[in-house]
Amino acid sequence: MSNDQLELPSYLHHTDEVKHRLAEIRERPTVMSLSGLTRRFESAEGSITALDAIDFEVRAREFISVIGPSGCGKSTLIRLVAGLDTPTAGEIWVDNQPVSGPGADRGMVFQSYTLFPWLSVKRNVMFGLRMKGMARSAAQKKALEWLDLVGLADFADHYPAQLSGGMKQRVAIARALANEPRILLMDEPFGALDAQTRCSMQSHLLKIWDAVDITILFITHDLEEAIYLSDRIVVLGAHPGRVVEVIEVPVARARHPDQFLSGHFLATKKRLESLIYDPETHSKRRSERMSPVAA
Ligand code: ADP
Ligand code: MG
Repeated sequence: MSNDQLELPSYLHHTDEVKHRLAEIRERPTVMSLSGLTRRFESAEGSITALDAIDFEVRAREFISVIGPSGCGKSTLIRLVAGLDTPTAGEIWVDNQPVSGPGADRGMVFQSYTLFPWLSVKRNVMFGLRMKGMARSAAQKKALEWLDLVGLADFADHYPAQLSGGMKQRVAIARALANEPRILLMDEPFGALDAQTRCSMQSHLLKIWDAVDITILFITHDLEEAIYLSDRIVVLGAHPGRVVEVIEVPVARARHPDQFLSGHFLATKKRLESLIYDPETHSKRRSERMSPVAA
């Protein structure tokens, strides 16, 4: 057998650990549900269906990723969930309440750095708490606790310009978590980082997720990132953006970078590749088909 014919297990094969964990997740309450979620954009050239009847549910403390090629509607989806945009049809429910705008129950971390450059790291994290009316000393105490959790307690008095890209994103995560949302929404948060920083941020995020009672909806176009982080992966196809498959990740927890080369990891990656690169599952307009590595 040559190297390119390594035999992989089926991505559908689950070890006992995976089977039990996924079954336990299914027993948990639903934190968020999307039903028939549709978003069309009208332009001079006509109507674009960015998302077409998206349905899925997210359970408490689940880590769920949404993946798909550029232009398949990932950012549109997360903006709708964040309440920054309104669907053409369909609904989003969070904790049995319909989403009708932004709310403290959903915290957001974007790909681009969104810290206030004129505020110190600590004050950036305190910002939302002060807006909510929390006293300065209490907000400061809380901000320092969250900075400690993301490993940046020693940088509380620094300014964003003095931090690396990875550190800025850790502050953005601390700032989102300080408001104690039910769901953390992350739109390609590590997309602008170099490969090594990205890898350490992924492990860091898993540690944070382990320490905090939080559900995470994570958008990425990076197949390995989605597998490494998630319990389930929602695969979107493009034109129109729709769910082509929901994959239950067959990789054991706790996750470790060594698993990138495990049979279950590689089998899942192969399945994702076949879904994302297959022209049949994607754009019917070949000329518009783009590489999934472009954000
Ligand atoms: P992704 O994040 O997966 O790359 P987007 O959600 O940004 O995809 O975009 C999905 C589709 O919707 C694309 O065809 C894009 O051009 C279109 N689109 C997104 N936002 C708008 C908008 N505000 N007006 C018109 N078209 C838009
Ligand atoms: Mg996007």
